[in-house]
Amino acid sequence: MTPAPIDLRKKPADVKVHVTSRAGVDIVWADGHASHYDFAYLREQCPCAICDDLRQKKGQQKNQALHAPAPDLQSAELPMFKPRPGARAAKTVGHYALQIDFTDGHSAGIFSYDYLRTICPCPQCELLFRHSSL
Ligand SMILES: [Zn+2]
Ligand SMILES: [Zn+2]
Repeated sequence: MTPAPIDLRKKPADVKVHVTSRAGVDIVWADGHASHYDFAYLREQCPCAICDDLRQKKGQQKNQALHAPAPDLQSAELPMFKPRPGARAAKTVGHYALQIDFTDGHSAGIFSYDYLRTICPCPQCELLFRHSSL
């Protein structure tokens, strides 16, 4: 049996989670690439089923708003003051993932390193991992 080839781009070499300073998460990958994630960004990208569902509903609402712009809908989308989500705690799950306990009480999301690399906010990774949606 030969082990499955390891994708160095998705293997973390160094992981730092800055919970107290709220600076976010820094990961250096085995291929030498460094990624930085804000907790707010990670909260938005939370991979759990609940958040996935919410994101899809939001997308649908946006589509509906485009087709039938209603004044109430627009005022409902006025920006409200919301504190930026931070993290209360974070822990590693085995060797493959990070679990983050967000300040809004949500902690269901398990961020696998595989997933984290594909959501790296830099333009280079956007091209590498997310360009296929075009
Ligand atoms: Zn979630
Ligand atoms: Zn990147």
